[in-house]
Amino acid sequence: MSRLPEFPIPIQIPAQANPASAADESAWYAEPQAAVAGIEDIVLVASGKGGVGKSTVTVNLACALAQAGKRVGILDADLYGPSITRMMGTERELPVDDEGRTLPVENHGVWTVSVGNVLPPEAALVWKGPLVTQALTQMFHDIAWPELDILLVDLPPGTGDVPLTILEQIPVSGAVLVTTPQKLSIVDAARGIAMFHDLDIPVFGLVENMNSYICPCCGEVQALFPDGAAESLAQRKSVKFLGGIPLDPEGQLLTDGGTPLVVSRPQGTVAQLFVGVAAELASAVERERAFRARDSNEQMRAEHEAFWENLLDD
Ligand code: ADP
Repeated sequence: MSRLPEFPIPIQIPAQANPASAADESAWYAEPQAAVAGIEDIVLVASGKGGVGKSTVTVNLACALAQAGKRVGILDADLYGPSITRMMGTERELPVDDEGRTLPVENHGVWTVSVGNVLPPEAALVWKGPLVTQALTQMFHDIAWPELDILLVDLPPGTGDVPLTILEQIPVSGAVLVTTPQKLSIVDAARGIAMFHDLDIPVFGLVENMNSYICPCCGEVQALFPDGAAESLAQRKSVKFLGGIPLDPEGQLLTDGGTPLVVSRPQGTVAQLFVGVAAELASAVERERAFRARDSNEQMRAEHEAFWENLLDD
């Protein structure tokens, strides 16, 4: 494993958590939304609870989308528990190009940036408000991202500061929610869906992780919680159920070791299920893009007509 860098680091993440003044804080929040250069669609991967497999789903979806020919990146916004470097095998310093620009790290055909690239794995992050905002702004805007079709953003669990900060500052195309079948996780996933709906962010769908297991004798996928709680949540909230992913302790060792299952065992049942979810997600993103194009054409037409009407009135 390559060594992690000492401070100073390519992204200027503040070394300690000095709470900034209220004036500084309001200045951050007053920032208007700014598109991230070269990135077509930004998709948040969210969960109500921690440990449900959000990062596992993120890396496998990213690799599956890359295998399908998309230009894909992952921004690890789970600042307090970053896992992306470990799961993508990118535990190394962010490279800097000849012009001094910090670049994401590429592996398995996916470009990634994480706090894990700049802090030692066991370092505890003790930042709040403005520092979190500053780190996020730098990860989106101060990294020289290549042109990407989709940037997946691995959010921390819950509906706290990080998703709200991102939604205030970055134009986001939509979100995917990850849950396990247990009731507590489902309740929190419902909160996540409510947050995105309240903020007018399209929810591309719900993924139910660890909802089944693969019988070692016959290879059949068997449900662990047959009441289909995630599917019925999706139905109640008018959100697409993107699919279920089985519990796969053996395969997970590969993902946790830096090679997501979609890459390490592409023909396996679980990898194929991820590929199916990724295809559903890709079409939802395409549809949303088409809506946006139609809306902006209509807006341009309306502005054009208003211009000529005003001109004739004058
Ligand atoms: P989160 O990002 O929601 O915190 P992670 O993706 O880090 O969750 O996963 C939490 C733990 O569960 C990790 O140890 C991971 O290896 C394990 N895990 C996730 N999905 C699966 C799965 N489908 N089968 C087996 N283990 C899984």
